[in-house]
This record gives sequence, C-alpha cells and structure tokens, in this order.
Amino acid sequence: MNTKIYTIGSLEQDTDKLAEAGQILRDGGLVVFPTETVYGLGGNATDAEAAKKIYAAKGRPSDNPLIIHIAEPRDAEAYAETSALYYRLAAAFMPGPLTLILPKKETIPHSVTGGLDSVAVRCPAHPIAHALIAAAGVPIAAPSANLSGKPSPTCAAHVIDDLTGRVDMILDGGDCEIGLESTILKIDCDVPVLLRPGGITYEQLCAVCGHVEIASAVIGQLAPGERPLSPGMMYRHYAPATPLILVRGERAAVTAYLRERQAEGCGVLCYAEEADVLLPERRIILGHRDDPAEQAQHLFTALRDADAFGAPTIFAHYPDEHGMGLALCNRMIRAAAHTVVEV
Ligand code: AMP
Ligand code: MG
Repeated sequence: MNTKIYTIGSLEQDTDKLAEAGQILRDGGLVVFPTETVYGLGGNATDAEAAKKIYAAKGRPSDNPLIIHIAEPRDAEAYAETSALYYRLAAAFMPGPLTLILPKKETIPHSVTGGLDSVAVRCPAHPIAHALIAAAGVPIAAPSANLSGKPSPTCAAHVIDDLTGRVDMILDGGDCEIGLESTILKIDCDVPVLLRPGGITYEQLCAVCGHVEIASAVIGQLAPGERPLSPGMMYRHYAPATPLILVRGERAAVTAYLRERQAEGCGVLCYAEEADVLLPERRIILGHRDDPAEQAQHLFTALRDADAFGAPTIFAHYPDEHGMGLALCNRMIRAAAHTVVEV
C-alpha cells in the first residue's frame, strides 16, 4: 500500500489535505493523526471492516477494543448510553485526555469493541484531531498508531517507522504534548474504576466523581489466568526491545547504582539533576525529577531511542506514584515487565 504523508502546518491552509483524509475514512481507509496524547491509527468507527483493517495494520489481537473519537461530548449519544456522571466528567475534562467506558449502542459494531457490550469514548483536544473528525463526518475508532507491543508513537517519525505501507495516510502534526495515552475510566458500573492513568489524574477524577477505584492491574501484576477489566492491560507492553529494569530507593543510592550499571555498559534513563554525575554515553535525560509531566512527554521516545544503545539492559528510576506520576509508573512498570530492584 502506498502511504501518503502530509504535514499539517495550519488548519486554514491545509483544509484540502484534511478533506482528502476525511474522504479516505468515509471510504473505509486508514488515516494516522496526531492527538494531544499520542498518534492515533484511525478508521470509521461505524464500519466493521475498517476495524478489521486497523487490527491488521497494527498486528493487534482483535479482542483488544478500540477507542471511539468524537468531536463533541454530546456526539456520544448516537453510540453509547450516557449518564449524568458522563456529562459531569465531560464538562470538567472534555475535550481532553480522558476516555470514558459506557454501555454501547448497536451503531458501533462488535468488531470495534473486541466483542464487548461497552464502548470507550473520547473527545480529543488536538485541533488536527478535531478537524479530522469534522471532515470525516463519522466517529473515528483509533488505537495508538504503533505496531502492537511497541511504545506508542509521540511524533510522526515513530509512526513512519512502524506503519509506512500499512495505512493510507499519515498526518504529521509535530510532537504530542502529553506523550502518554489517555486516562481510561469505566463508568458503566456503580463505582467508577480507573483502568489506565494518563493526563487526567486520579486526584482530578476523585474531585468530580467522589470515590474512584483503581483497577489492580494499573500498578500490580495480574495473577496467572486473571482477566483484566481492560483487555489492553497485558503483562508486558510499551516495551523497548532491550530489557528495562526499574530502580527504587534513596535518591543518592539510586544515582550511584545507575552510574555503576552504566560503567558496566548498560543504558540509563535519568533525571536532569543527576545527569552530570552520570557518564554522558548511554544516558537519556527523561526530565526534571519533580516534573512527571515532562518525563511523561519524553518517555516513549526515550524507550525507542534506548534500543539504539545496543546495551544489554536499560535502568531507570521507579517513578513516584502520585498525580501524573501514576501514569508514568503504569507505563514504565509494564515496559519493565514488573522488574524492580531495591537499592
Ligand atoms: P489504545 O487504543 O492503544 O490507547 O488502547 C485502548 C485501550 O482502551 C486498551 O487498553 C483497551 O483495552 C481499552 N478499552 C477500549 N475499549 C474498552 C472497553 N469497552 N472496556 C475496557 N477497556 C477498553
Ligand atoms: Mg496502544
């Protein structure tokens, strides 16, 4: 398949490109587009065949459901059973990096929801994503635009590496601002359950919902044979090819440990504040120690780039689990397949 790659500079000047992308989606094709979280691999969410193409392009198991992207919160009415809580959360966080799980309506084929009777709905804030949904005139089903198992793409270069020849079009809108996938909250049950932390934090959700449960698979390990509430919570995910190990302990001790592993030929993901104590080679600075949002923005690029070291192992800090740190922790612990050393 020939993949067209368009750079979108300004929405006003690039209306023709967006109209072409919208036509591809209406015709059952696939378009990769930027969002504020990560790049999405989009197809028409009301078209069962488009969903099959998405799974094939990603190499993703078809029991892993897709997120439906809509232009406005009220557009969910056509595809899902909404509730007062849905509209309270929408008023607080939409458009933005929040996905809500609701009971689905028949307009969404089961092939999109991996056979589930619920559907994941999100209203992205990115102007290109918003313009594309409007141009398509249909809701867009889109998982992250990476090959299954690889870190999610946070810039067009990642998508071009993974999906050239597998999709009809890639819209390059620059770097993603948040850099981690959306927060997923299940609200088709009595107490809302946080399935995946992201740019909207647990603390922010509690402020609107009152009580929110955190699914055990967010940080913990699934027991053998346990079915996760969210099929995407597989054991190892977002992983670099090189094994990643997280290091937890007192600040100076962790830095010293990273320095020793580096000297042995391993790679490290570190904080800006300790960078000058470490060797300049095989070192990637994730961001400042107390800025998990900055670290989140760089994480997936760092995981991809770390593979280029050709090191036997990569070591990184175990993040603080509060605020945006919970999302970082969730992705890193999966990338590390739950391998943590205490120093
Ligand atoms: P991605 O599209 O790569 O960001 O992944 C989408 C995530 O949403 C996956 O982890 C799915 O398991 C999850 N998801 C989508 N729809 C549902 C649903 N109906 N119930 C539970 N999880 C869902
Ligand atoms: Mg994904």
